[in-house]
Amino acid sequence: MACSIDHKRIQEIMSELPIDQGGIGRHKCAACAYEEGFRRGVNGEDDFNIHEIINDLEESQAQNQRHKSPHAAFAKGYYDGINEYYNTH
Ligand SMILES: [Zn+2]
Repeated sequence: MACSIDHKRIQEIMSELPIDQGGIGRHKCAACAYEEGFRRGVNGEDDFNIHEIINDLEESQAQNQRHKSPHAAFAKGYYDGINEYYNTH
């Protein structure tokens, strides 16, 4: 399945992510990875398996998330989510 979400809100963040050189998260939607990381960070979650999360993502060849690292995207999303968590607690 391919991701059909319009990740308009986070295109600037996507443009700054590294390219997935090694292909370990090949074709997975980096924007969905960012959103999933953010959701977990903002909820203060710290018990999860990144491999399983990225494996479960939809694929994407669209917009600025094309070929971007879903691992870096997840980490950036988690970081932003944790910051948001601190700002609201
Ligand atoms: Zn997506």
